[in-house]
Amino acid sequence: MEHFDVIVVGAGFGGIYATYRYREQGFNVHCIDSAADVGGVWYHNRYPGARCDVRSIDYSYSFSPELQREWRWSERFSAQPEILEYANHVVDRFGLRPLISLCTRMDKAQWREEAKQWQLETNTGRDIRCQYLVLATGPLSYPHTPDFPGLESFGGECYQTSRWPHEPVDFTGKRVAVVGTGSSGIQSIPVIAEQCVHLTVFQRTPNFSLPSRNGPLSDEEFEPIRQIYEEYRTEMRNNHAGQFMPDAGRSKPAAEYTPEEQQAVLEYGWERGGIGVGGAFSDSLTNQDTNDIIAEFIRSKIRSIVVDPRVADILCPTDHPVSTKRPCVDTGYYETFNRDNVELVDVRQDPIATITPDGMRTQNRHFKFDIIVLATGFDAFTGPMKAIDLLNGAGEHIMDRWQNGPRTYLGIMTSGFPNLFQVTGPGSPSILANCIIAAEDDVDWIGRCIAWLNEHGYNRIEATKQAEDEWVAHVAQVADYTLYPKANSWYMGANIPGKPRIFLSYVGGLQNYRAIAVSKAEAGYEGFEIA
Ligand code: NAP
Repeated sequence: MEHFDVIVVGAGFGGIYATYRYREQGFNVHCIDSAADVGGVWYHNRYPGARCDVRSIDYSYSFSPELQREWRWSERFSAQPEILEYANHVVDRFGLRPLISLCTRMDKAQWREEAKQWQLETNTGRDIRCQYLVLATGPLSYPHTPDFPGLESFGGECYQTSRWPHEPVDFTGKRVAVVGTGSSGIQSIPVIAEQCVHLTVFQRTPNFSLPSRNGPLSDEEFEPIRQIYEEYRTEMRNNHAGQFMPDAGRSKPAAEYTPEEQQAVLEYGWERGGIGVGGAFSDSLTNQDTNDIIAEFIRSKIRSIVVDPRVADILCPTDHPVSTKRPCVDTGYYETFNRDNVELVDVRQDPIATITPDGMRTQNRHFKFDIIVLATGFDAFTGPMKAIDLLNGAGEHIMDRWQNGPRTYLGIMTSGFPNLFQVTGPGSPSILANCIIAAEDDVDWIGRCIAWLNEHGYNRIEATKQAEDEWVAHVAQVADYTLYPKANSWYMGANIPGKPRIFLSYVGGLQNYRAIAVSKAEAGYEGFEIA
């Protein structure tokens, strides 16, 4: 039997930082991950074109001034290999590798009330006990594979973007299908199209995608930030998205601009690149009329890029407001549909009926493929919980508590599950913000909480049912103030058949969330039962 103060599950960006931070605090900490190396989502999502859609100088750790001054990103939006290299660099630079057990999956965890500890079972047969269990399993880590009839009968190669093989996939001379046009599809489609002989894209819902304007990160751009990185980080932390937003606080409701000024604001955002256009006005996500102006602007861009008006029409989103599904950031996505070797199929008009040994049959047609790529997304937040036998002291599975949707207090704890913390859990800003900064905040909060418990001679903490109920209601109330609930998005759990429809993240902003979480801690962990 092995005993630790803290077990961290997941060696992605949240788990790496948690392991570092809790070791620095003097805890006996260990991290486990089922993958063969560190990096979490960036270890698995190695599909062609995978890259960050938040600027890398923002999407990187802020906890070490030395680290952030030393590391030099090569591009504005770095590609997956460089992000994975960075994760490995951090692990080695801070000597964390001995504290991480790879290829180790937590199959079961149960709270033992008499011992006030969690008991873990792993696929490697280890019997691990810990006082505090920290889940850094990632909001977007559990793949969603649609239940297409005949999928197992396919005789060619089939890949999922979220579980991409480590060996190179050769598309040369191949007829390829990509199913799904979320961020993963939109990033991989232009790259695959350049390599294969023919690509068929199966689109169910068109997405709003914005050009990244990616390119090399020049010294002129980076050096001034490197000089003031700490101040830059402070500014980043103090807005709702946890990333540098030069226009934050300066934008106004669309109605306060003339139509010409509105177009100029949008053109500026489009040319600058990244997700800025989606939030160009202060009421972009709360006022349907404002959102319609942005949506029409993006649709006009799609029509100006895509030569075939019929294809442009299929690519134009009309069923959800801009940014209520995660906006995509692309490099040459719409231009790809002008290529002779690319075809777009609207599966709302012609649904996928079955996968066949040599391809795919839709209601109206039969396609022959050598390779099928499923870019069909994730079971966000709850997927990893379903995969673990996560039981409280009474033997109740956490998913039984979450039958009507995930329930947390501050996104960090669930009532009935003492000493179990989540990093970027449901009900936290996580996926609506810069996830690395959000994870650092959560890890720090949890670290301070455990230190406080130790200092005061406590060994058990649990969210109260009342605090949890109030937080769940608050998260829903804030979301209802926005346009987000109008979309059938993974934010709403709508991408998974049968998943309860509730908004999974906290829309109130990273800085507001941090202020609330810190105030609860400073009030002696208000909303928690301490023993
Ligand atoms: P996603 O946004 O959920 O997209 C999945 C796509 O698959 C959607 O187009 C969906 O259509 C389609 N789909 C699912 N089931 C289908 C079915 N049965 N038939 C036909 N189409 C089906 O997943 P994702 O692209 O992996 O992205 C998920 C999130 O991960 C992103 O929103 C982002 O937060 C993150 N991500 C980030 C990056 C980055 O930073 N660079 C890259 C990739 C992903 P519907 O829309 O109709 O459901």
